[in-house]
Amino acid sequence: MGYKIASDEQIKKVLRRVLSKHPHVQSQGKLKMLVINELNKRRKKKFTVSEKRLRGIAARSGFVKIEIHSREGDPQKVLFKCPVCDAPLKRVKNLTIWGGRVTIEFKCPLCGYWTSKKKRVPTLYVFHFKK
Ligand SMILES: [Zn+2]
Repeated sequence: MGYKIASDEQIKKVLRRVLSKHPHVQSQGKLKMLVINELNKRRKKKFTVSEKRLRGIAARSGFVKIEIHSREGDPQKVLFKCPVCDAPLKRVKNLTIWGGRVTIEFKCPLCGYWTSKKKRVPTLYVFHFKK
């Protein structure tokens, strides 16, 4: 098979072009399709990119807002890295004012993923173009 791996810079450029035409993309699979189509336009070599890698590039790009839909996950699960973009998660303590209870949350400084004790499992991503 003649697939080539595109560089982060190539993907980022194409991603910007795709999102300027489609400012709201309703799923990761659809975004991948649009990016690959645009990437391979007028090209003999065929490039590809995985959905996970594309999501990471989108999170780091600075011009994509990722809307994360999720379901509740396993409270026992230990999370160090963001399940969306692989960045290290920040541990945030919240003291609730009335009950005086401390809750621990984890937040991703890059893509906006957050979770409390029930580790949210991402199920769907919607990509928005930030202008
Ligand atoms: Zn993240």
